[in-house]
Amino acid sequence: MSNLVLSAPLKGWIAPLDETPDAVFAERMLGDGLAIDPLGSTLHAPCDATVVTVHRARHAVTLRAANGAEILMHVGLETVALNGEGFTVFVKEGQAVKAGDKLLGFDLDLLAQRARSLITPVVVTNLDAFEIVRRDQDREIEVGDFLMELSPANLKKGGGAASAGPVSTGEVAREVVVPLVHGIHARPAARIAETARKFVAEVALVAVNRRASAKSPVGVMSLAVRHGDTIQVVASGLDADAAILAVAELIESGMGEGGPVSAQASAPAVAVVEAVPTVPVDLPRDGVLKGVLAAPGLAIGKAVRLASADIVVREAGEGVAHEEAALTAALDLVRARIEKAAAQEGAHGGDKARKAILGAHLAFLEDPELSAGARRLIGEGKSAGYAWRKSVGGYVEALRGLGDRRLAERVDDLVDLERQVLRALSGEDEDGPTLPPGSILLADELLPSQLMGVDPGLVAGFATARGGPTSHVAILAAAMGIPAMVALGGAVLKVKDGATLILDADSGVLRVAPDAPALEAAQTALAQRQERKAAAKAAAHDACVTKDGTRIEVFANTGSLNDARAAVANGAEGSGLLRTEFLFLDRETPPDEDEQARQYQAIASALDGKPLIIRTLDVGGDKAAPYLPIPAEENPALGLRGVRVSLWRPHLLKTQLRAILRVKPLGQCKIMVPMVASLDELRAVRAVLDEARREMGVVEKIDLGVMIETPAAAMTADLLAAEADFLSVGTNDLTQYVLAMDRGNPELAARIDALHPAVLRMIDLTCKGAAKHHRWVGVCGGLASDVAAVPILLGLGVTELSTTASIAPEVKARVRGLSLESCRSLAAQALDQTSPEAVRALVKSFGA
Ligand code: PEP
Ligand code: MG
Repeated sequence: MSNLVLSAPLKGWIAPLDETPDAVFAERMLGDGLAIDPLGSTLHAPCDATVVTVHRARHAVTLRAANGAEILMHVGLETVALNGEGFTVFVKEGQAVKAGDKLLGFDLDLLAQRARSLITPVVVTNLDAFEIVRRDQDREIEVGDFLMELSPANLKKGGGAASAGPVSTGEVAREVVVPLVHGIHARPAARIAETARKFVAEVALVAVNRRASAKSPVGVMSLAVRHGDTIQVVASGLDADAAILAVAELIESGMGEGGPVSAQASAPAVAVVEAVPTVPVDLPRDGVLKGVLAAPGLAIGKAVRLASADIVVREAGEGVAHEEAALTAALDLVRARIEKAAAQEGAHGGDKARKAILGAHLAFLEDPELSAGARRLIGEGKSAGYAWRKSVGGYVEALRGLGDRRLAERVDDLVDLERQVLRALSGEDEDGPTLPPGSILLADELLPSQLMGVDPGLVAGFATARGGPTSHVAILAAAMGIPAMVALGGAVLKVKDGATLILDADSGVLRVAPDAPALEAAQTALAQRQERKAAAKAAAHDACVTKDGTRIEVFANTGSLNDARAAVANGAEGSGLLRTEFLFLDRETPPDEDEQARQYQAIASALDGKPLIIRTLDVGGDKAAPYLPIPAEENPALGLRGVRVSLWRPHLLKTQLRAILRVKPLGQCKIMVPMVASLDELRAVRAVLDEARREMGVVEKIDLGVMIETPAAAMTADLLAAEADFLSVGTNDLTQYVLAMDRGNPELAARIDALHPAVLRMIDLTCKGAAKHHRWVGVCGGLASDVAAVPILLGLGVTELSTTASIAPEVKARVRGLSLESCRSLAAQALDQTSPEAVRALVKSFGA
């Protein structure tokens, strides 16, 4: 083998590795080489090579040259903590690059402020195979200048990147859950290798069927082990037990980078995950089952049980070529079916929710990792079905293990896809069930494709033993206007086919085989509901004034241009909450000022001059934006979210405020700040707003309001109202914080009721605080869409309700039937109730 010359990957000053202020590099734990103090902001390939790994945090790249030399380039020190912020990646793992090709770009200024050091080590990690025979030092270099020369040495064992392979016989193994917040990146990989090398035993790490020598830092890194992953430390040879103990304990110690590992994450990573079906339990004597609202409404119908037949797959394949071809054909077939369904949606003008779900299924189907995982297993002799199930299973486990409920609820999409491909492989057609009209579907879990496959005209509702209220199937049900409940538990599986059911999703109750009076009452309620709805819809565009002449504004919440159109169509008098997140989520970079200005203008224009309250960005918590690397938080609901994010990244806030200030006519708009906890935050936002106005020469005043979503804001509403132009209560968050109940937890969903007297007292305080300064108070949280709550909110002093568009006509109709006087006395009584149930009972007995 001939020598290999590496050219400078970066413009900068060359320094000896010893000067790197990090023992991992200075002590050559990762390998030998040089460090560069960068003067440029692009990292280039130092030779022709293949990209072995690009770290998830985009700060480090490893290349393998044709002669096997592995070169790690690590931009800055402790830059893993930036989670990718400030970095751009130009290459993919597995890609061939030529010397001089661009690998990474980085924001030198940002790194200078945020990283421990900019010094960029360039090291050869498999020094057992190569030695450095010449290297440059202590001078300024340009990209492409000579850097060092490597000469092949005698090959020893233990190097190399990860390879596929499970634990084999003769090896001992121990499972560990990785507590390192940033997973196993360069530094911990080096320490693991250093520890493993102290033993003669062969030591390896196995992660989701990929295996790497623990003595090779690059191999370990290329496993891309994340925080919370379960991996195995395996060893064979003389001192295997001691080696395993040392490596496992090192990893479990967290190496100073520990963090919380969610309970779910401790499941074995290699196991094929199959949903454990809910155990059926006996029906309660009264036939009343409690569950969680997934889509609102009331339905009476007959039970139709949907049981998903188990799909059995053979483990052994019938030859790699045969199984490969079978998998390709099945994937093609499912893709064609989904594309056809999506095209039909498009042709019909389509339903947003259905299109989004089909799009998600298609994206999963095209995920190269998913099919690559399956093809790897086929290569090991497994059948296409087994390989597909196992590959999807790994993903399902990973999503469940992230501890992020929103992602965990995407699991049903993956399971759905698993089933569709397995069916295609088995050659069976996905026949929808034959349904009689008025069917109420009962299932352990319902998959989106199952619901999309039924005739909505025949389905009156559905109820499932498991599932979450924000799952795709719940969103779909709401979009189809089908009342639905989830999380009813195993008893729902004991309901007999054909049993009469009353599904009262709004109250979270499913009545099985109700007696005649209950059935009659439900039929009356249903008829009244339909009548009321029709009448309200007919009067949707009429004015909204109470019987005694008080003007109440009924607005609608929006999150897109379509929502704005729906608001107007439903008679809403404006939008009391534009959730601007729609523009910021699910993309790699934030929208710039022009894009935002265009979108806000389009929404304002669609509202036809009606008021538009634009909420500044409310991300964080359960709404993640990839370009905002919010550090891992133990409790995201109490972490960096809402206005805290805007003030953490003021340039984003400034851009957003500038975009809002460009809307014409500006007088149509107001600005509202989410998650405020203290007056300082409002002042800080106002300062940025004033600066933006000055820069743009905007003299027109624009109202700046505050959302009341934290107990702190409600308690100090009088202080906030002294400087805010209006207050708007976000009851979704306010309720979760007042009751200390996670708004996304399906277990708590039935108890997290904004009509709890504690929440009402907070709204009361808000209205009193606002009144001191003659400010108006609105409600834009879910309580505004709860028709039962309307008289209480009016009685407390709320004068604007921003609802879900479809409910706006009913809320307007309710307001028209109320007198403020009687609302006030109702509200006073509500504040003295001891439970939300008591408040609801009180409202029921209230006339007008
Ligand atoms: C709320 O919290 O009530 C609210 C309107 O904001 P979001 O639901 O978007 O958090
Ligand atoms: Mg909120």
